[in-house]
Amino acid sequence: MKDAFASESSRRDFLRTLSLGAGATLLGSSALASPLNWLAPGRKLGVALVGLGNYSTGQLAPALQQTKYCQLAGVVTGSPAKAAQWQQQYGIPAKNCYDYKTFDRLIDNPAIDIVYVVLPNALHAEYVVRAAQAGKHVICEKPMATSVADARHMIAAMEKAGKKFSIGYRLHFEPHNQAMMRLGQSQAYGKISHLAADNGFKFSSGGTPWRVNKKLSGGGPLMDMGIYCLQGCLYTKGQVPVSVTAKFTPETGTGYFKEVEAGVNWQLRFADGTVADCRTSYAENMQGRLRADAANGWFELEPAFGYGGLAGRTSKNDGLLNLPNSNQQAAQLDDFAQCVLLNKSTRVPGQMGLRDVQLLEAIYRAAETGQAVSTKDVVQLIDRTSAH
Ligand code: NDP
Repeated sequence: MKDAFASESSRRDFLRTLSLGAGATLLGSSALASPLNWLAPGRKLGVALVGLGNYSTGQLAPALQQTKYCQLAGVVTGSPAKAAQWQQQYGIPAKNCYDYKTFDRLIDNPAIDIVYVVLPNALHAEYVVRAAQAGKHVICEKPMATSVADARHMIAAMEKAGKKFSIGYRLHFEPHNQAMMRLGQSQAYGKISHLAADNGFKFSSGGTPWRVNKKLSGGGPLMDMGIYCLQGCLYTKGQVPVSVTAKFTPETGTGYFKEVEAGVNWQLRFADGTVADCRTSYAENMQGRLRADAANGWFELEPAFGYGGLAGRTSKNDGLLNLPNSNQQAAQLDDFAQCVLLNKSTRVPGQMGLRDVQLLEAIYRAAETGQAVSTKDVVQLIDRTSAH
């Protein structure tokens, strides 16, 4: 049997869990609300970002300046120039900077608790598995993987490591989307009869070329932007669909879409007959919309999926979707840090990433064959954290 204290970090994990459990019993819920009380003074969990592209640079690093329970402590990059710049900008010590070859040495670095994989989609699997083998907790960006087989392999590696694993589904930590979950799942406007969602942008020559390279992306806008529509429909309806139909939208003559689809329209069908009509595209700018029509009214977000500026309306004009915007990534990162500190389950686990990869594969299969594809066998998991 593996020694429970095989590494310094597992010993620290154990002590944290033990003291948190005992502390919670003695002090009640206020202690649980402040996990930092149980850390060494001034210590936050250390996060290493893997891949310093647009999302790491524009969103995650700034969010990590606002987090309470974790901080930017390291980077993994193939670019020595970026490593030098990030060291200077964020005060990251050189010993916490890695490249893709030295990545596995993270195992010897107790300053890094959490590895956040922000690479092109097809590279997620390799780096999640290697991070697991280095004994780290892991957040992996969406889509979790480019195949169901990879997604399962990643989950198995994380389970073997006994570390926390979540997917970068930031909208589960965003007030408007949490309200959609609550209104839909509690049937506040009656039973939902129809859902609609769209999300997309016009891909241009200034874009990241890997997004239209099938080997690196696994697919086009469905993998990148459509996944938000898929997620939105599931968490609003509170169910996993039973079948899908789909149709690719035509190539736009730009020359970008030789390997991946330019767009796709698809329908999810739920067990009670509810249909969700979804659209995604790399050939059209869409604000991002999520709408539910129910027995006693409707409720919707538009924009629904961006980093900020989200806005909602309801048929009853009751203000239930008039909510503040907040830093989604900071909330997501702090929630994951608390999962680690308090040994809690994440609301966005690897199994949810697997569920979505299964559904994305089903949508592609439906578009390729023109036939309805059953989704009855996909992971039956819904985030119900906001429903009550
Ligand atoms: P970028 O292309 O901007 O960044 C990816 C980075 O990965 C590169 O800058 C590079 O970093 C590294 N990399 C390593 N190998 C390769 C390779 N072969 N080709 C290209 N890049 C490579 O992509 P994004 O930041 O937009 O997306 C990264 C991931 O984050 C994707 O999975 C995407 O779906 C997800 N994402 C999630 C968002 C969300 O809201 N949750 C928003 C945007 C993206 P370096 O030079 O440091 O090695």
